[in-house]
Amino acid sequence: MTLLEVRNVTKRFGSFTAVDDVNITIKTGEFFTLLGPSGCGKTTLLRMIAGFDAPDNGQILLDNKDIIDLPPEKRPFHTVFQSYALFSHMTVADNIGFPLKMSGKTSREIKIRVAETLSEVELSSFSHRYPHELSGGQKQRVAFARGLINQPRLLLLDEPLGALDEKLRENMQRELISLQAKANVTFIYVTHAQNEALALSHRIAVMNQGKIEQIDEPSRIYNFPINRFVADFIGKINMLDAQVIEASGYHLKLKVTGLGEVMAPVREHVKIGDQGILAIRPEQVRIDPLGSEVAAKFQLVGKIKDFLYIGDVTTYLIELPNSIRIEALQPNSFPGHAKLFEIGDPVVVSWQE
Ligand code: ATP
Repeated sequence: MTLLEVRNVTKRFGSFTAVDDVNITIKTGEFFTLLGPSGCGKTTLLRMIAGFDAPDNGQILLDNKDIIDLPPEKRPFHTVFQSYALFSHMTVADNIGFPLKMSGKTSREIKIRVAETLSEVELSSFSHRYPHELSGGQKQRVAFARGLINQPRLLLLDEPLGALDEKLRENMQRELISLQAKANVTFIYVTHAQNEALALSHRIAVMNQGKIEQIDEPSRIYNFPINRFVADFIGKINMLDAQVIEASGYHLKLKVTGLGEVMAPVREHVKIGDQGILAIRPEQVRIDPLGSEVAAKFQLVGKIKDFLYIGDVTTYLIELPNSIRIEALQPNSFPGHAKLFEIGDPVVVSWQE
């Protein structure tokens, strides 16, 4: 069921268009993420949904009714910021209970709801502490609890994990997924971190220069990026200029500039003669020592140019004919082996066709 619709929304600052004719439909219960590079308009869009800014054009509909004229406090939403925005002179319990107090609930009711919510975010023993006595992760959990206590129709989150270190971020990501499922509240989440968007979201809108490039589920965004921008922004990818010379039921035969003929799996709407990009993720590139038997119907011979060992995986940069370079990622499944290849080793490169 549709909860919120952003319809042809545009926002200009002077002659600069920060959000450019954006259309998004968000379903009840969704974890929906706005993802894009710094300055692409994510926060501007979120602020218009929250009601802090008004669009120059377009409509924002909640349950099919335009809410453009509703001030932020009249919208059944809550916003969580990266800066936590906790009240420093209030205890954890008072911070969390604040929205209930503002909506006129009795102190008995507030006490019960705060105790329940504290337990949901595993902060029961911290109820009497003040924000300065909490870690970054704990402060953020208080901010989430405060955001959820009034059961808003929509929780808007602007880079909420941005200030946390990487390890803590991962834990908080798990907590957020479970909090959202438990609270059954629709989330709109803003981030420029593609891993975070992939890990958390039911659907992602990839933004670039004020426009939406693609809206899809994480695995489709990763595996079927709609264009060069999305492919490049989400994860690492090798891109080779190619032309389709054969298209059978399952395979494509491509002529890759500088490399000759290779095979690739068939994609929708691709036909003979099409000119485009063959885009392959490094983890899909297979490398074998020269001379070994390779199942693929084509073989590209190259040389290891360099490698980066980063513990769980090693990334190899391989030089193919005509100075074309390709990256391949190998998991280090066997302890003690930092790498399988040395710089200068001749290798055969292939991928699933
Ligand atoms: P980040 O990830 O860095 O927060 P963002 O995608 O959220 O970026 P926005 O904050 O929405 O980007 O800004 C989009 C563009 O609009 C930027 O170029 C920014 O400089 C511009 N902008 C935002 N607010 C204003 C304002 N009040 N006046 C003028 N320009 C603004």
